[in-house]
Amino acid sequence: MGELRNCPTCNDFFNYTGIRDVCAKCANIEEQQYETVYKFLRKRENRAANIERICEVTGTKESLLHKWVRKGRLQPAMFPNLGYPCDNCGKLTTSGKLCENCTSNLKADLRTFDAAKDFRDKVANQDKGTFHTDRK
Ligand SMILES: [Zn+2]
Ligand SMILES: [Zn+2]
Repeated sequence: MGELRNCPTCNDFFNYTGIRDVCAKCANIEEQQYETVYKFLRKRENRAANIERICEVTGTKESLLHKWVRKGRLQPAMFPNLGYPCDNCGKLTTSGKLCENCTSNLKADLRTFDAAKDFRDKVANQDKGTFHTDRK
């Protein structure tokens, strides 16, 4: 059993079963667009086309291309200029939720956070130490 949802493309109600996130009608249109995009990209001279160019030529929405890359239907390994926007800065990325830049920033932030936590722990231990020595 599915649940009734609004199709994000045409706003119609449809039965969401977890397989597709749009209604059957829109899924069909998307499939046709996917075929068009795929045919376009299959040509050697179009492999390196960027998303803007693909949208222009095939009339496909940018968000659809992002979705296909995210789902692995269009492989960035084959089409080097494809990607989807980073959750944080919107720059195109091809893996995970964040671009390389934001991933490394986040890691740096986490390291700072860890270091700060270590420091706080040390201070807390010292406090305890002081407390104990005072009690003796
Ligand atoms: Zn729809
Ligand atoms: Zn980013």
